[in-house]
Amino acid sequence: MNEIEGKVALVTGGSRGIGAAVALRLAQDGADVALTYERNTERADAVVDKIKGIGRRALAIQADSADTGAVTAAVDETAATFGRLDILVNNAGVFLVGSLEELGAEDIDRTLAVNVRAPFVAAQAAARHMTDGGRIISIGSNVAERTVFPGFALYAMSKTALIGMTKGLARDLGPRGITANVVHPGPTDTDANPADGPNAETFQSFTALNRYATPDEVAATVAHLSGDSGAYITGASINVDGGWTV
Ligand code: NDP
Repeated sequence: MNEIEGKVALVTGGSRGIGAAVALRLAQDGADVALTYERNTERADAVVDKIKGIGRRALAIQADSADTGAVTAAVDETAATFGRLDILVNNAGVFLVGSLEELGAEDIDRTLAVNVRAPFVAAQAAARHMTDGGRIISIGSNVAERTVFPGFALYAMSKTALIGMTKGLARDLGPRGITANVVHPGPTDTDANPADGPNAETFQSFTALNRYATPDEVAATVAHLSGDSGAYITGASINVDGGWTV
């Protein structure tokens, strides 16, 4: 039997990239999976079909993470549809970079709403449904620890906030047997950061392995944290970054 057989997961931003890889991996490991997305229903439905194809239940929910009501509703809908919620993966994120002069108030508000407020609100809502063995896993970023380029102050600020949130959640929820961790990917081949993009060679040169991650490589660590294998890991920041931070 798979480690998370019978469990239920919600992955925000699960229709593409790292989120889609996480959703599929958790389904392969035995979970029923709900995923949120912002715009692209077709991509979300394609992931749902793949999950159903491997014999698990799946649900796509359109929910902009900038909307706190939509985030809470997505958590509640997942628990209502599948009867429980065990694993929350806060993955949806916006990647707004630019010089200090370029980034305006709207960029700051959007980044904090999607990358910081939504994970917090989702964790609050999820904790109401979770029981012993619950998991809250947030996707941070390598730049939370090592910000090598100018223009990343806003994005790095938002991802660093997840480290503090995760430590606090670990204390708040530890007594209930629920863990909280943050996974920091390095450059990962997705639509947001394609391995054949204009800056890819520079990005990968900052890793010790001199290559991009595949989304599956990030998903593997999320899967480890989701099962019994992750039971004694909490409050941790885990780099899956090819050595970006060394
Ligand atoms: P992608 O752009 O490939 O995919 C983003 C996913 O999130 C899509 O499913 C998208 O849905 C969804 N999404 C975007 N905005 C929202 C929103 N406001 N509300 C709900 N869903 C939303 O991103 P990645 O897979 O590259 O990134 C995933 C996470 O990993 C992010 O938090 C990112 O910051 C982090 N990360 C990525 C790295 C990389 O190199 N790729 C490196 C370090 C961290 P839709 O298609 O409908 O828009």
